[in-house]
This record gives sequence, C-alpha cells and structure tokens, in this order.
Amino acid sequence: MPELPEVETTRRGLTPHVIGRRIVEIVRRRADLRFPIPAQIDQLIGEPVLALRRRAKYLLLDSTRGSALLHLGMSGSLRIVSADAPVRTHDHVDLVLASGQAIRFHDPRRFGCLLWQPLRVVHPLLATLGPEPLEEAFDASYLAARFAGRSAQIKTALMDQRIVVGVGNIYASEALYRAGIDPRRAAGRVSRARLELLVDAVKEILAWAIGQGGTTLRDFVDPAGTPGYFAQSLKVYERAGEACLTAGCGGTIERAVLGQRASYFCRRCQR
Ligand SMILES: [Zn+2]
Repeated sequence: MPELPEVETTRRGLTPHVIGRRIVEIVRRRADLRFPIPAQIDQLIGEPVLALRRRAKYLLLDSTRGSALLHLGMSGSLRIVSADAPVRTHDHVDLVLASGQAIRFHDPRRFGCLLWQPLRVVHPLLATLGPEPLEEAFDASYLAARFAGRSAQIKTALMDQRIVVGVGNIYASEALYRAGIDPRRAAGRVSRARLELLVDAVKEILAWAIGQGGTTLRDFVDPAGTPGYFAQSLKVYERAGEACLTAGCGGTIERAVLGQRASYFCRRCQR
C-alpha cells in the first residue's frame, strides 16, 4: 500500500511535469474507482495546474476553479507518460496535458479515488485529519494533549488519522521501537519525555523514507512498487522470531495483532 513517503515521492516526481501545464483532456476508461468520478472534474479542462500538494495520503492538483483530489488506495500509482503511450489493464484515467504528456492513474484494486474539491471548500475526506507528522504542529505537547486520558493502545492511537496523519503500520512499529515504547501501552500512560522520543522517531523515519523514495524514483513514479528499498533498514517490522538488533539486548522480536494490524516489538527494549 502506498504510504505517506511514497505519496510524497509521487508528488515530487510529478511536480516538474505538471506545474503550469494546461490540462486539455480527461480520459475516463471507467466511471468509478472507489467512488464515482464526479462530472465536476471536467472543470479542470483548459486550466493550468497551479500546484500539486499533498495532505496526508491525498494529492491535490490545484487549478483556479478547484482541485482534483486523488488517493492511491491500496494499489494505485500515478505515472507521467506520453499521452499516446499504450494503455495497460487497470489504467483507468488520464489527465492529458498540453505538453503531450499525461498523468496516468493505474489502480488494479480500485480502492483509490479521483474526486473534486471546489474552491474555498475543504473536502469532507480531509476535514477531520490531524496535523502532518513532518510539520512543527506535530510535537510532544500536541501528542500529550491528544493522548491524555486515553486507554487505547499507543500504536493504534498513533495510527489514528484524526490525531496525526500518515503514520502507517510499518512506521508506527518502527518508531515505537526506536522510542523504546511498548506498542500495547495505553496512550495516556506514556511520559512526556518518551513522547518526545516518539515524535522525533516518527519524523526521522518518515523523512528518511521520503529521502529513499526520492533517490530511487525519477520521472517514472510507481509508489505501488515493493518497499524493498527500505526493507533492509527495518528493525522490527516482519522480523518476528528474529534477534533484536539493539546491541546487548539478546531478546527476540515478537508479533502481536493490535487494532487488527500486525505489530512487531521487543519486550526487553520496549516498555
Ligand atoms: Zn531488544
């Protein structure tokens, strides 16, 4: 599943190809993805792309009339192709640019979406989202305030998009390991000092993963590709039964299902 770093990598990869370019045609090869593709999307035709922004795992393609709102879902990807490039199975939509290129939306499982956000309106899908993890608003005092009194397990709370966006399962497991926090601990019972470590760990891991994506991908953007490029750097994720990598620990990585998601941790290093 494309996570925040892959979406940000996609944004960076597409940006030089789309900014200032006029959209001349929208080719729909089906009427819906996860949701129907609204007719309002045609307002983009004739409009230059003013900006390509990311909010959580959504991309917003801004024009003077409103914004296309895209989500890659479980298996989606966006590529820059020549507008006449042969169409593959599951290439559902093309946003054709005056440059002769097109942004091609490919999504085998169709959990992605292409929606419309009018000017001066926040789409309902974006309205309840928490802050971006890499922005300053996401800090230990914010997290302490949001976690106060909560008995939910901290890993589940950290993955709650209303609290902070874009901390997916892999990143939550890894950040809690780095911060030495047991993922099963009640969110409201973690000290401020440990939340400081957690915030730093989340920011470091996401920034690093974005950097990895940025060096791996060029104008061909395929965030649905395997996360193999960083798998070797993961300390706990999918390492159940293997030795903990903390020097001198000697423990074994365990797996537990928390909030219906596989979670990995070291009982000795994380409390
Ligand atoms: Zn350990």
